[in-house]
This record gives sequence, structure tokens and C-alpha cells, in this order.
Amino acid sequence: MRVRFAPSPTGALHIGGARTALFNWLLARSSGGALVLRIEDTDRERSTPENVEQILDALRWLELDWDEGPIFQTQRSGRHQEVLRQLLASGHAYHSDATAQDVKQYKERHGADRGFRGAERAQDAAPADGEAPAGQAGDEAPAAVRLRVPDEGATVVHDVIRGETRFEHIHLDDPVIARSDGSVLYNFAVAVDDLDAGITHVVRGEDHLSNTPKQLLVLEALGAPQPLYAHLPLLHGPDGKKLSKRHGAASVQELRAAGYLPAAVRNYLALLGWGSGDDATVMSTQELIERFSLERVSRNPAQFDEAKLRWLNGLYIRALPVAELAERVAEYLAAEGPPLARDAGVVLDPDRLARAAAISQEKMQVLAEFWPLAGFLFAVPEGYDEKARARWLGDDGRAALAETRCALAAAASFDEAGVQAALDGLQERLGVKPREIYQPLRVALTGTAISPGIFESVALLGREETLRRIDAALGAHSGETRLKGAHMRPNT
Ligand code: GLU
Repeated sequence: MRVRFAPSPTGALHIGGARTALFNWLLARSSGGALVLRIEDTDRERSTPENVEQILDALRWLELDWDEGPIFQTQRSGRHQEVLRQLLASGHAYHSDATAQDVKQYKERHGADRGFRGAERAQDAAPADGEAPAGQAGDEAPAAVRLRVPDEGATVVHDVIRGETRFEHIHLDDPVIARSDGSVLYNFAVAVDDLDAGITHVVRGEDHLSNTPKQLLVLEALGAPQPLYAHLPLLHGPDGKKLSKRHGAASVQELRAAGYLPAAVRNYLALLGWGSGDDATVMSTQELIERFSLERVSRNPAQFDEAKLRWLNGLYIRALPVAELAERVAEYLAAEGPPLARDAGVVLDPDRLARAAAISQEKMQVLAEFWPLAGFLFAVPEGYDEKARARWLGDDGRAALAETRCALAAAASFDEAGVQAALDGLQERLGVKPREIYQPLRVALTGTAISPGIFESVALLGREETLRRIDAALGAHSGETRLKGAHMRPNT
């Protein structure tokens, strides 16, 4: 099995493209075949080196490797011209200067559903020596090149997913395969490139289905074997409309920035149009390789639901060994983290990072949630969340916080158990609900009403820093939202 992924590098790699890449990759890996990467860069203006790099980068991040390529389509123009000359010489193609107006008139004469045939107008169906480059046959003005479609018969697309689709020749226009400036058209280049790469299975988005007969006709004219085709179902958002930006992250880059794990993304993308048959949802990449098959791909549109991806990602995060999670978090913060984490000089002490990851693991669905949850362990918060302050640092809250300060200052030990014993004792003595103690403390330490478990958080922050932040909260005037004397500074 030889498959290919053939992106046009006109921007970021979108979810649909990533799914196409993944399905091809799974086929190559499960069959022991090869995945060819072809960059379809014929749109010179949009195919910038940066865009190419973006695609490669997204594939690398997804950990989808390829066996051959990248082959750049523009670098194959010599070969394209050669095949064009071959088709002109064999009479399968002809020069045609027919205009859109000519095509219209032809259809008025022969009927609207009758495919355009330009050969009767062609001045030079085949250059005598077969050597003239396209568009410069003899002394003629440059003309486009059209492929001759036989009048009889039909081209049948055998699609593994969609079954057979028949295209009657009588209705197909002779397609233009090269422009009058000699440049070849997309469907011609794709057919030649797939042929030369020995592609056995063309797996791509459904939007390409209408291109397939044209590509097959080119292969037919060359007497070449046909690959099998599989057109993957469209992607919709949860509202049933075609997937777009308003459904959340639309590109691989955005998924990465949102803090998803590549393994979870692969798992989720695999479920977009494919199912294992037994409703399995969580599947390792190895399982996907073992179980994936084109026969189980659906024809119906698949639904991309970011909420489901988040949920799945949460499972993957919780399944990671803590050391690996800490590594992922560090990588993520270095690449995508808030400026504070990235370059305010905050030292992410590896030991503290591992412990912070351990106490946050249960509460995170994506890596982006780490810093809002645990950043207070590395840097003094910039201020208080206004709602949290109003709710928990009023007179009652501050009174409880003052008591908490005494209890923590006197705690016999400051590990998790020691902190818990101190707070439990205080709660009993005051006869209040736990949250009346925990929440003011949380706001004082983190600036928000959310944190990992309070005992673990306090223990990890350490006695000295905990007391300092409590003092700042107690000293802060009620209208002031900044911690007294607080500014971003390293805190390890
Ligand atoms: N370059 C096309 C695209 O990015 C894919 C062509 C193909 O797979 O045949 O949509």
C-alpha cells in the first residue's frame, strides 16, 4: 500500500487536513507500506516557505512521519511537460484556443448537457515532431491543451467508501490540462504525480470527488493503472454546519496552543468518520494502527466537537506519568505560556514543577489550564479576582484568614498532613464550614477562588510564602485589588 498526503500550503494545517494525514498515516503504518508527502505548491503566491514550514511543523507535532518526500509539485514541472508532450504526440490531447464563448456556443448547438469537444477546431491536433512545448506548437499563437474524452463509455470511480460513481463521457467536457502559457492544470499534475509515486490508494477529502474523473481520464490516456480512491466524509461542527472557525480551534496550531496532547488529538481525529465497530473511544495509537480500516469509514459527515476532544484530552493528561506531564507542561509554557511564565524571569524549578503537576493533574483537561491553576506556586499573583475578593475577603473572610494565619504559623509540621491537621483543628475550634476557612485562604494565596487541593497547595507553597501572602491580603485596603508590595518576581 502506497498512500500520500498532498497538502496545498496556503495556510495552517486545518483539522480536516490533519484527519486526512492521519488516515493515510494509519494505512501506511498498518500495511507496512509507505506514506509519501507531496507539497502541492503550484499556487505560487500563497505557497510561501513559511506556509510549507507550518504544515511540516504541524505534522511533526502530531507525530505523523512520512517515508518519502516532501516532494514539491513545482519541482516536477519538467516531468509534467514531458507527459504533456507525450499525450499531444499520441493524440490523446490537442491544442485548443477555444474560449469560454466558444464552449457556450457549442453547448447551444449540441445541448447543455453535452460535453464540449474542441478537437474539430484544433489547428494542430498533434505537433509533427511531438517535441514542441505546450502552447508553442509551430507558428501558432499559444493555445491551451485539452484532453480528448472519448464520446462513448463512462469513467467509473471505484470509491472504497462511496461505492461506484459513473461519469458518462458524453457529458464531460474535454478538460483543459495546460494553459496557453504552458503551465499545467491541477488535475493533470496530481494524476501524473500519483502515477510516478506509485500511489495505490488515494485517500482525501470528499471535496475532491469531482476531480477524480478528470484524474482518471489522464491516467487512462497514459495507459496507466488506476489507484483505488477513498473520499473521506466532510467535517461538521456540533450544530451540523460545515466546520469553521466559529466551532472553536480550526487548525492544528490552535489545538497545540490550547494545550492538547498529540496522542489525544490523534485519537480524536481517528474517530471523525471512522469507528472501531465496538464503540471504543479511547484508543492508543498502536490500537488505531491495528484496528483502522477504510471499510469502516462512514459516508456521512462527521462531527468535530471540541468539548469531546477536551474531555478525551483530560483522560490522556490523567494517564500520563507525573514526570512526563511535568515535561509537557514545561514545554508548553516555554512555547505557548503566558508571558509571565515565558520570560518574566520566573524560574520553573523542576522539582516544584513536578509537584505542581502532580497536584493539578486531576483538575486539568488541557495544558493551558496549568498556569491559571498552579501559576501561584511560581509567581506572586498580580492581584485578586474582583468577585473572589468581594466574596471571600470581606470582614468575615479576613477574620477567618487572621485565625488561619495563627494556626499555620503554629503548625507543627508544614507538609500536607501538618497543614491539614492545623486547618482541621482551626475549623473545629471555630465551628465553621471548611470553605469558610479554605476560600479566604485560597484567594489570599492565588488571587482566585480556584486552586488544586488546599492542603497540597499550601504545603507546596511553603510556610514563609504562605504567611507573607496572608499578611498582604490582610493588610490590603478593601478597595485595593493588588497584593501589597506584590509584583511579578521569581519565587522558588
Ligand atoms: N492539495 C489538495 C488539498 O490540499 C489535496 C489534493 C489531493 O489529495 O489529491 O486539498
